[in-house]
Amino acid sequence: MRDSNMPDFKRPGSQLSSCPPIEKWDDWVEYDPDAWPRHVARHYQLIPTICFNCESACGLLAYIDKETGRVAKFEGNPLHPASRGRVCAKGPAVINQIHDPDRLLCPMKRVGPRGSGQWTRVSWQEVLETCAARIRKAIQEGRGEEVMYHVGRPGYDYIMERTLQAWGIDGHNSHTNICSASARFGYILWHYADRPSPDHANARFILLLSAHLESGHYFNPHAQRIIDGKMAGAKIAVVDPRLSNTASMADYWMPSYPGTEAAILLAMAKVILDENTFDANFVKNWTNWEELEVDGLKGRSQSFETFIETLKRHYARYTPQFAEKESGVKAETIVRVAREISEAGSRFASHLWRGSASGNLGGWQSTRALMLLHVLTGSVATKGGHNLNAWNKFVPKPFSVPPPQKRWNELLYPPEWPLCTHEMSFLLPHLLKEGRGRLDTYFTRVFNPVWTYPDGFSWIEVLRDEKLVGLHAALTPTWSETAWYADYVLPVGLSSERHDLMSQETHASKWIGFRQPVLRVFQEKQGKKVEYTYQANPGEVWEEDEFWINLTWAIDPDGSMGIRQWFESPYRRGQKITVDEYYGWIFENSVPGLPEAAQKEGLTPLAYMRKYGAFEVTTDVYKLNEKPVADADLAGSAVESNGVVKKAGKPVGVMVEGKALAGYSTPSRRLEVFSKTLVDWKWPEFALPDYYRSHVHRSAREASMGKPAADFDPRYLPVVDWPPQARGEVYTLLPIFRLPTLIHTRSGNAKLLYEIAHKNPLWVNPLDAEKLGAVRTGDLLKVHTEIGFFVLHAWVTEGLTPGVVACSHHLGRWRMHKGDQIERLASAWVDLREVGKGQWKMRQNIGVEPYESSDPDTRRIWWSDAGVHQDITFPVHPDPISGMHCWHQVVRVERAAPDDRYGDIFVDTNLAHAVYQKWKALARPAPGPGNLRRPLWLPRSVRPAETAYYFGK
Ligand code: SF4
Repeated sequence: MRDSNMPDFKRPGSQLSSCPPIEKWDDWVEYDPDAWPRHVARHYQLIPTICFNCESACGLLAYIDKETGRVAKFEGNPLHPASRGRVCAKGPAVINQIHDPDRLLCPMKRVGPRGSGQWTRVSWQEVLETCAARIRKAIQEGRGEEVMYHVGRPGYDYIMERTLQAWGIDGHNSHTNICSASARFGYILWHYADRPSPDHANARFILLLSAHLESGHYFNPHAQRIIDGKMAGAKIAVVDPRLSNTASMADYWMPSYPGTEAAILLAMAKVILDENTFDANFVKNWTNWEELEVDGLKGRSQSFETFIETLKRHYARYTPQFAEKESGVKAETIVRVAREISEAGSRFASHLWRGSASGNLGGWQSTRALMLLHVLTGSVATKGGHNLNAWNKFVPKPFSVPPPQKRWNELLYPPEWPLCTHEMSFLLPHLLKEGRGRLDTYFTRVFNPVWTYPDGFSWIEVLRDEKLVGLHAALTPTWSETAWYADYVLPVGLSSERHDLMSQETHASKWIGFRQPVLRVFQEKQGKKVEYTYQANPGEVWEEDEFWINLTWAIDPDGSMGIRQWFESPYRRGQKITVDEYYGWIFENSVPGLPEAAQKEGLTPLAYMRKYGAFEVTTDVYKLNEKPVADADLAGSAVESNGVVKKAGKPVGVMVEGKALAGYSTPSRRLEVFSKTLVDWKWPEFALPDYYRSHVHRSAREASMGKPAADFDPRYLPVVDWPPQARGEVYTLLPIFRLPTLIHTRSGNAKLLYEIAHKNPLWVNPLDAEKLGAVRTGDLLKVHTEIGFFVLHAWVTEGLTPGVVACSHHLGRWRMHKGDQIERLASAWVDLREVGKGQWKMRQNIGVEPYESSDPDTRRIWWSDAGVHQDITFPVHPDPISGMHCWHQVVRVERAAPDDRYGDIFVDTNLAHAVYQKWKALARPAPGPGNLRRPLWLPRSVRPAETAYYFGK
C-alpha cells in the first residue's frame, strides 16, 4: 500500500526528486531497501550537518529512522550554498564510519608500557581531572609552553585558538607545514591572504597546477564550479607530471618535470610582457612597482615604463625554449596557453595548493609566478578571476575574545625558520631530541603523525619516551598508529556527532555552515533533555567543544586563574557556558542578516541554523580592495610617501588615483611584486617571483648519482647521501597525490571507500620500466629513500612523465596484533621491530581478510591488499624559507630481491636525524631587523602579543 507521503508516479506531474523539499524534512518517507521486493515505507527525520571528511565542509543530510532512532544514511543538503546537494563518495561514507563495528567508543587509558597496546576503560571525569591537574601545574609554574595541542584535521573555525589563548599559552601546533605551507607562503607574499578563492564558474580560462580536484582544496565545491565554467565555454589547462583525473578532462595537459612549474609560468609571463598584452593600468595601480630595487633599479626614482623594461629584462632568460628544456613541456604549448590566458584577461582563474608547491624546495616560487600571471592580466579581485580567501570566508566572533598570549614557543616557531608559514610541526621529534624542550601534556587531535608525516619512526621514538612526552592524550574518532603511543585514547565525534562552525572560500560567496550532532538534535526534537552530546552519540563519543569547556573549568575551578571567565555563559552570569549558548550568541550577534532571516520564519537564529545547516552571508565579494576607506578611519589619518594611509600608526588604506581605498593587507597595501620582506630577512636573491631549481631537479639527480653536471648549483640543492643498501636507477618520486575516494586515517573504517580503492602501486613510465629490466605491472620493486626503503608492486603506465615515479598516499595502514580490532578492513597485521638502535623493520604478516563482526559485510571482504606505507621511509626536508616539508624526493628503484616481500619497510632514524641537520643548515635564522623573531606583518597561527615577537622581551 502506498504511503500518503510517497510520490505517486502514476499521477501526471508527479516525479522523482533528487533532494527532499525542506517542508518534508520532519517526516520524509522512503521504501525500505532491505525489505525489497515488498514496499515497506519508513519515516525519517532529516537533519542537516556538515561533512568532516575533508576541509570542503559540504552540507550533509542525516536520515534518521524515526522508529529506531538510528541514522540510516547521509545524502547532500540541497540548501548548502557551496555543495548544493552534491557530495563526493566520502560524504555518504560517513554512515560506515559511524556504524563501524571496530569503532572506538569509550575513553581508554594505557595500563602497560607505552606502545604495548594494553588498555582499560576510564571515565571522562578521570580524564578531565588528570589532564587539568597537569595543565594547571604547568601554567602556575610558568611552563605553559609544555602544554601543546596538535591538530590534524581541524574542521572548526577559531574555537581552539580561543581556548588556548584563554589558557594564556603558546601551544597550538598544526599539520599545515606538511600540507600547504609552501603555496600559502607564495600567496602571502603577494597579498597577505594565504589562499586563493578562484571564481571558476565565471572564468574563461582555468589553469590548475597539480591534481587539484583530487588532492587540492575544496574538492567537491570546486569541481562543480570548474565544470560550470567548462560548460559555459571556459578552457582548462593542467600542469602536472601525472595524468590525473583532472588532467584527463582538460583541454591542455602539460606534463612537466616536477619542480619546474615556475619556469613554465614565468615563460608565460614573458610572452604576455613581450607581446604587450598585459593590463598596464592594473599593474600600475595595484602593485608596489615603485618599491622595486633589483637589477640596478633604485626604488622610487623610476618611471613605470622603466619598471616594465626592467621586468622584461629580468625575465628575458625565461624563454619558452628554456622552459621546455627545464620542464619537458613543449614551447609552443606554453606560448599558446599564455595567449589564451591573456585573452581571458580578468576572467582567468587558477589554483595551486599541493603538488608543485608542496613537493619542491622553493615550491612557493611557483605560487608567486602564478600570481604574476594574474597581476599581468588584471584578474585579481574580479568576476571569473582570482579572489582572496579572506574575502570569501566568514569567521564570526564569539561573545568574548581572550587577549593574545605573551610567550613565544620555539618548539613551534624555531628561530632558524623566521618566515615559516605555520608551525614547524614535522620537526617536533628532532627538536625534542636536540633537547630544545619537553612536553608535559600533549594533545593530538584527529592527527596521526606516525603514519601521515614523514619520518614516523622518529615520532615513535619520541612518543614512547616519557621523559620527552609526559602525558599524551589522543583525541581521535578512530584508532590510529599514533594513538597506539598515547596514555589516553579519547573518542571524539565524526561529521554528524559534533558542533562546529565552518566556512570556506569555495566560490564567489561568503557563507557559514553549522555542523551539529544529529542524534542529539533528533532526541531534543523528541522532547528529551540532553545535557552533554556524548549522552546521545554512540557509546561515549564526545564532542570537543564540551570537552574543552569542561577541561577549562577543571583547570580553574574557582576562576582564580582568570581562565574560567572565558567559558562562562554570556546569558547566565558565572555559570558554565553550553554549546547552545556559545553558538546561539554568535548567530544572534555576529552573522549579518541571519537574525532577520530567522525572524521572518518565526525562529531564533540558532533554530534557523539547526533547521537549514547553512547560511549565505553575502555574494558581494568582488573588488573589495577598491572599497573606499570609511570616513571614520580617514578622520585623523595621514598619507605616507608610498601612498599608504595610516591612522594611529596602523595602515587603513592606500591612495590610488587620488582616492583612499582599502587595498590589501601587505606593508605597501598593494600586491607585492617586489618583496622587501625577503630582502630584509636575508634572502635578497628572491625579491622577485623567480625560478630556482628544486632539490629534485635533473641536476640534483645527476649529482646524487655522483655525476654532477656543469649546471649543478650546490647552493640550494642538498645532494642525497645514499644509505649503504641503496641500489638501482635514480628517479624523482611523487608521493603526495591522493586517491579521490580516500582520506588520510579516517577512511580506514569506511568499507564503501576501501572497496573502491585499496591499492597504491608505483606508477612507472614504460620507458623506465624497460630500463629497470623489462618490469611489468605487478612486479615487485624496491624503492630506496635517503633513510630506508619500501617494497611495492609496479604499475606501468604512460600517464606519467619519464624519469618520474609516483605513489599515492593514504594507504598502508597497520595494526600490531592479528586480533586488534583496529581498522581491520584497511590495515595489515605487521611485525614491527627495532633491530638496532634507530633501525626499524616492518613486515606484513597478513593483509586484509574477512572477519566476523556485527556487520555482515565484514564477512564479504574480497580484497586482501592494505597498500604499502611510504611516508615513514621519508626524511624531513624543511624548506629554508616557507618551512614546508618538501615531499618530492630523489629515490633509487630496483627490482625487489628474492627475500623482499610486498609491504616491507626499513628505516634508520640515525640517518633521518642527519638529513634533518643537512636541511637545517640551509636556513638563515632570525633575528631579523630590530631583533625580531619574525616580520610583524606576516600572519602567524594563534598570534601572540607584539612583545613576544622580539628576542629578549
Ligand atoms: S568534498 Fe567530499 S569529503 Fe569533502 S566535505 Fe565534500 S562530501 Fe565531504
